[in-house]
Amino acid sequence: MSKHDCLFCKILNGDIPADIVYESPTAVAFRDINPQAPTHVLIIPRKHISTINDIEVADHAIVGSLYDAARDIAKKEGFSGEGYRAVMNCNKAAGQTVFHIHLHLLGGRQFTWPPG
Ligand code: AMP
Ligand code: ZN
Repeated sequence: MSKHDCLFCKILNGDIPADIVYESPTAVAFRDINPQAPTHVLIIPRKHISTINDIEVADHAIVGSLYDAARDIAKKEGFSGEGYRAVMNCNKAAGQTVFHIHLHLLGGRQFTWPPG
């Protein structure tokens, strides 16, 4: 899928509305429309990268910035100390449905391991 028909690129462009909670030069975060926890935020790079498999060495600072966002949002939402989950799905077996990488930040409840 090209970035031109990517749902998350459309959110970045403002073509599709989203509840944006965080913005940096390299990353944007917005609330998931189908939340799986009291807080469920998707943190995405401004650069279109389809899957984890497509991350290049030159993208390391961008990908690192997704974790900076997770840390800052978790603090703001009040569950830094209690704990939270930050997860990125890759391709079909993991259930990836939007092919623009996104870090799911989930917090505000107890999680179990292993995940389903
Ligand atoms: P994944 O299955 O890891 O690809 O996650 C995709 C996520 O995007 C799911 O949790 C969806 O609920 C979420 N999602 C899909 N469309 C939107 C949208 N327009 N705004 C916010 N979240 C969305
Ligand atoms: Zn995209």
